[in-house]
Amino acid sequence: MIPPSHPRYESLMLRNRIAEGVEKGIVHPTGLIAHGRGEAFDYLIGEKTQPFAEKAIVAAAAYLKMAEHPVISVNGNTAVLSGREIVELAQASNAIIEVNLFHRSGERIKKIINLLRGFGGEKILGMEGDARIEGIEHDRAICSREGIYSADVILVPLEDGDRCEALKKMGKIVLTIDLNPLSRTARTADVTIVDNIVRAIPLIKKFYLEMERPDEVIEKWDNANNLKEALHFISRRLQEMEL
Ligand code: ATP
Ligand code: MG
Repeated sequence: MIPPSHPRYESLMLRNRIAEGVEKGIVHPTGLIAHGRGEAFDYLIGEKTQPFAEKAIVAAAAYLKMAEHPVISVNGNTAVLSGREIVELAQASNAIIEVNLFHRSGERIKKIINLLRGFGGEKILGMEGDARIEGIEHDRAICSREGIYSADVILVPLEDGDRCEALKKMGKIVLTIDLNPLSRTARTADVTIVDNIVRAIPLIKKFYLEMERPDEVIEKWDNANNLKEALHFISRRLQEMEL
């Protein structure tokens, strides 16, 4: 048991959730590595939603508001870290949830769908796998025709760079959450939220519900510039850090 007074309590709790997810067969072992990389970048941004992240969250909420067929793609890490909040966001924004895995396995998809059903998710896609993301090989391309394949706006947290690029080539608006502002995913997406998924998802819902003029938000949005702000923030913080 980790005592709540531990200075890194929150972070250690999240780490435990990922580790338990692996034990239950919900998170793929490589999800541990992805989480560790995320933790390192979270340290660098001070483990808080910084102003650049909040701006990206507002932009993501605006795109979801304008979407005709929004889809939220969920993998193992996303499910164990933010499953409940994803279900709530999907309900608030009329988005469809699709469980879509980089290392596809029917058994893991079923487990994740059951987890999300437990949080109140009703219709959750993923098992059918009746379409393909164009330009991607192997099982990594498999998706749902009614979900990712036909989405106009897709929220894909913690996504791989290759698939993100392929989704862009299919003409989709891609919104991502990625603590690493240097990743290919971060640089390819239309909106990159450089923040921890556990902080970002509830805020997307909050701003979605408050949003009045999504068109104005989108008109002003500049993802590359926002990523620069994130990098400048990190380098300033490193330079100012006292040891
Ligand atoms: P890319 O393929 O885009 O260049 P990558 O190969 O470095 O990136 P992946 O392992 O494909 O990364 O995806 C994991 C990404 O998710 C990492 O960039 C990591 O920083 C990020 N990540 C991990 N955990 C979290 C989290 N809790 N919240 C937000 N982002 C996270
Ligand atoms: Mg990758």
